[in-house]
Parts: sequence; structure tokens; C-alpha cells
Amino acid sequence: MKAELYIQAGNSLGEGPLWEFATNNLLWVDIEKKLLCISDVRKKNLIEVDFKSRLSAVALTNKSNLVLLALETGLELFDLKNGESVEIANPERNIENNRFNDGKCDPVGRFWIGSMDRTVKPEAGSLYCLEGFNAPQRKLKHLTISNGMDWNLDKKQMYFIDTADYEVKCFDYKVETGSICNPRKVITVPEGYGAPDGMCIDAEGMLWIAHWAGGNVSRWNPENGKLLETVIVPAPHVTSCCFGGENLDTLFITTARKGLNAQQLKDNPQSGGIFFVQPGVKGLRTNLFQIHLNKKLNGNY
Ligand code: CA
Repeated sequence: MKAELYIQAGNSLGEGPLWEFATNNLLWVDIEKKLLCISDVRKKNLIEVDFKSRLSAVALTNKSNLVLLALETGLELFDLKNGESVEIANPERNIENNRFNDGKCDPVGRFWIGSMDRTVKPEAGSLYCLEGFNAPQRKLKHLTISNGMDWNLDKKQMYFIDTADYEVKCFDYKVETGSICNPRKVITVPEGYGAPDGMCIDAEGMLWIAHWAGGNVSRWNPENGKLLETVIVPAPHVTSCCFGGENLDTLFITTARKGLNAQQLKDNPQSGGIFFVQPGVKGLRTNLFQIHLNKKLNGNY
């Protein structure tokens, strides 16, 4: 199977795609260009919102027009209509060399967000869980590149990638509390596939993994660790993927130009674009960050 170009966004480091079911919008970020990117797939347009610091992840919320952003300067609620933002947390305010990386909402609307050292210093990153406007809880430490994550269909397991490990870990998950325990390796990624980066689950409970420096997205069975399918992407640095489209039957894929030399860019001119493929399986609706309305923040929300 081969993915085709959806739109050449020219991303330096495209990342974190997600599908907004209510609007048919695909959202993603360009971490290095500090952009939030939005495309209405019916128009195939591209709207870019630029920020002053690196934006590593976006989450939809249960309030239309409000998104949650993971900026280097902190986790913020951002109003897409009027451009106003308000910081809600910054667990790494005092760790100067770190930035946030991949993040995603769990099935009941907590936002999980990882961090890493900007120079990829080993074990300098952590994984946090933000519930409403409470202080984020640190769930994992000693991570190198905290990256893709998702939850299984019965919400009892959480899958997680630290790219440096070349594997997918599975944790037992208590959805009532957001606690994780009993980590074990469920997928080992061979080096030839490229480094495991972003990840999403499909409606059959199988995992789709984007491979940096691998030019592909692969589908795996986390129950037995077996590789099921490989989607070739005509861009070496494949960063993340999500299901979208009206029927949730399209896999959208982000890529990067960063890290490619002049020859590689010449050979792979679609790098930095958004790709798509219809793999014959559907995805799940995007989880929304739940803003608890009984907790007022600066009187605004
Ligand atoms: Ca990533």
C-alpha cells in the first residue's frame, strides 16, 4: 500500500494530526515553524496560525473553538475565533532545555503530554497527565523522546512509545483515575523500519506507527507483536498519523523536511506534506479534552 499526497504543507516538522469530526477539519502542528495548521478537507485549504514558541501538540476540547496547545512556554487554551489564549499549566517551567513533544487525550478527556530535551539528552523527558485545570501529574520519567500514545478499545490499556527504545510499551490503564501500571513491551520495531514516532489505534484495536527515517507507516497487532501491514510514504521522515474523513476511513500522515539533506529533499520533494491512504479499516473519533465548567479560569472559561 502506498500513501498519496493530500496537501504539500511545506512543514519543517509536521506532527500531531487529529480529525475534528464536527467540522471535517484536519488539524496538526509544525513544531519548528511554530504553526497550528488547519485544513477543511472538503476545500483542501490550509490555514496557518503562528505562535511565538514551538508548538508540539494540539487537542480538541469539549468547547467548540477552544483548543488545548502544548507550547514551549506552557499548556494553553487557545480560542480559534478571537486568538486569545490563557495558560493552564506548565509542569516544566524550571527545566530550561526541555520542550513538550507528542500529546493526546485519553478516552475520558485527560490530556497526556510528553517532554524531551531539545538536544535529545537521554532520559531528560517525562510524561504528564492533565485532568481539567488541576496540576499535571508526572506519570513517567527518564524518557528520552516521549512520543506516540493511544488507548485500547476497552480503555484498559495504554500504549506508549519512547522513540529511543524502538518499541511500544503497554500499561494497564485505570480509566477512572488515569493511573498506569505493569509496563511491558508488546512490539519491537526493527531498526530497518525507522524510528517509531507517532501512533494511533484503529477500530480493530491494531496500532499504526509512523516511522522517522523509515518512509513508512506500519500496522501492528499489539496482542502478539506481529507486523500486519506497511504503508509506503514518499517522504523519509514520517512523524505521525490519525484516522479521519467523514467515515473515519482515511489515515492522514504528517511528515518532516527537517533532518533531510539537499539531495534527500531533491529525491523526496513531497517531504513536509500531509499524506493519506484508505487502508480498509476505520479509526476512532478523536478524544476531546474535557474542560470542567465548574472550575472558572481567570473568569474567561
Ligand atoms: Ca513525534
